[in-house]
Amino acid sequence: MTRSIIKAAAWTLGPDTGDDTPEGVCSVVCLSCGAESAPTENERLPVEVRALKHTGLNPDHRRFKAQAETFWCVTPAEGNPYRETDAQGA
Ligand SMILES: [Zn+2]
Repeated sequence: MTRSIIKAAAWTLGPDTGDDTPEGVCSVVCLSCGAESAPTENERLPVEVRALKHTGLNPDHRRFKAQAETFWCVTPAEGNPYRETDAQGA
């Protein structure tokens, strides 16, 4: 978690834990032909299996770019006036 002071207000950066936000999204791209797996939410195994199957079908395609996305959220820290405003709106 990173804390920063921007325009005299403290903000905190952390993972986005919203109900509709996944922990992470994974996908893989073959570096030989550009074939890309469908993205998966919160699961890495299906993407790994996809890479292995792709190489099984195309034995020369062995290098992949694994892509992992995470989601962040900035919230008001202690002493930030938006913290009280957010609490009233919740
Ligand atoms: Zn390929």
